[in-house]
Parts: sequence; structure tokens; C-alpha cells
Amino acid sequence: VVKLANVHKSFGPVKVLDGVSFEVGRGEVVAMIGQSGSGKSTALRCINALETIEEGAIEVCGHRIHDDTLDKRALRQDVGIVFQSYNLFPHLTALQNVMLAPTCVKKIGRKEAEALGRDCLARVGLAEKAGHYPEQLSGGQQQRVAIARSLAMRPKVMLFDEVTSALDPQLTGEVLKVMEDLARDGMTMILVTHEMGFARRVANTVIYMRQGRIWESLPGSELANPQTAELRDFVGSGL
Ligand code: ATP
Ligand code: MG
Repeated sequence: VVKLANVHKSFGPVKVLDGVSFEVGRGEVVAMIGQSGSGKSTALRCINALETIEEGAIEVCGHRIHDDTLDKRALRQDVGIVFQSYNLFPHLTALQNVMLAPTCVKKIGRKEAEALGRDCLARVGLAEKAGHYPEQLSGGQQQRVAIARSLAMRPKVMLFDEVTSALDPQLTGEVLKVMEDLARDGMTMILVTHEMGFARRVANTVIYMRQGRIWESLPGSELANPQTAELRDFVGSGL
């Protein structure tokens, strides 16, 4: 479903992605880990065509990101992305936030959009909070609304960039649970995370990024037994 081949990306003189290649099959979960500045967010942003690449190829659900003829709108209907900051509209309720894109972008009727919105809120465990405004919700609940908002576009692939980094441990758990449920339901996901236990439990593949390269790639279940000293150091006491 997702394929990166020899992707290179620089910001000015700084090489951020230096020949990155990997594939994600349907229903697979890939976790990207690595030090700050190793290129994890940039890789995700390239997959959603938020950044251009200088060399190599990226294909996502049949969309060729590196192609001049790329239809970004169609791409972004197939690929949902959730960031650390939730960016909900403060003047809209949880349900209205979730309904917004389906009504505006897909032109779905109001009733259908509401049913879809309630269904997506239920999937993240927030059916009861549909009428709440963001300021009336905890950080973890707001992040789950943001995930529901993405799901409402019925994406084929979901990208998550450190979605729990701003949250207390307790709120982190409830967001990770939602992501784990999504994985179990067969969603194809690529996620950047510092949660080593989660990566080990949920990810089919863990990719350890270092200096813009894939330093080591291994099954999540093997995360406790890295091959390289660098990954061993990085995982350290995190498991
Ligand atoms: P973190 O764990 O801190 O989020 P990361 O692995 O996600 O790090 P990236 O955000 O991909 O790292 O950044 C990789 C490198 O690219 C960094 O050196 C960063 O300073 C640089 N960089 C990222 N975005 C830009 C930009 N828009 N302009 C210039 N440099 C950038
Ligand atoms: Mg980042």
C-alpha cells in the first residue's frame, strides 16, 4: 500500500532523508523511532506530500507522490495524518469538528455526516462527548477527537506523528488504546512514537532512523533484541 524507494530530501545544505526505502503492506503497522532530528517527521510528511522529495519514489495507495501530476486532494482523502497538536476548531463541538471535512470536502449530506461523525466518535470511545467543545475535553480526549476527525474521511492509511507526546501518562494510555484498536481492525498505519512498549506490542515492523537513514529495521516483537549497538542504546531502559 505504501512504498518508499531511495528517498532523498534536504533542507538547504542539511540532508534529512538519505536514501530511505521501506514498504508497508495492507493492514500492517510500522513504527518509526529514533533520536530528535533523525528525519522521522520529514519521512511522514513526504508520504503525505507535505514535503517534496529530490530523489527516489514514493507510492501511496496508487498515488505517485513524486509525480508532477499528483492529485493531492485525492491522496489526502486516502491518507489521514494526526500530529502532536490536535488543532481542533475551538468554536465547534467534537461532533462538528469530526463532520466538517466529510461535509465540506466530500459534500456528504448533513444527516449522513452526522451518523458518520457519531460512529467515528464511538470508535475512539467518545460517543458521550459529541456535544462538548474542545476546551471542555482533556488533552487525551481532544487527541481522540482529532483521530476521529481523520477517520471520518475513511482513509486507507493513517499516519501518526508523536500523537501522545504532549499528554500525561494516563491520557497517553487511552490514546494508545484507540490506536491499538485501529491496528486490530486492520488499519494500515505508520506512526512515529517514543512509546517503546507500544511499538513492541503493536508494530509489525519497527524502523530505527538515524542521520536520515534506516539504521535498523526489525519486527516489533524483536525490539528487545536489536542487532546494532546504536539501537540497543536507544531502546535502553525504555522497554
Ligand atoms: P523529533 O523527534 O525532534 O520530532 P524528527 O526525527 O521528527 O525529530 P525531523 O522533524 O524530520 O526530525 O527533522 C529532521 C531534520 O530536518 C532536523 O535537523 C530539522 O532541523 C530539519 N528540518 C525539518 N523541517 C525543516 C524545515 N521546514 N526547514 C529546515 N529544516 C528542517
Ligand atoms: Mg518529529
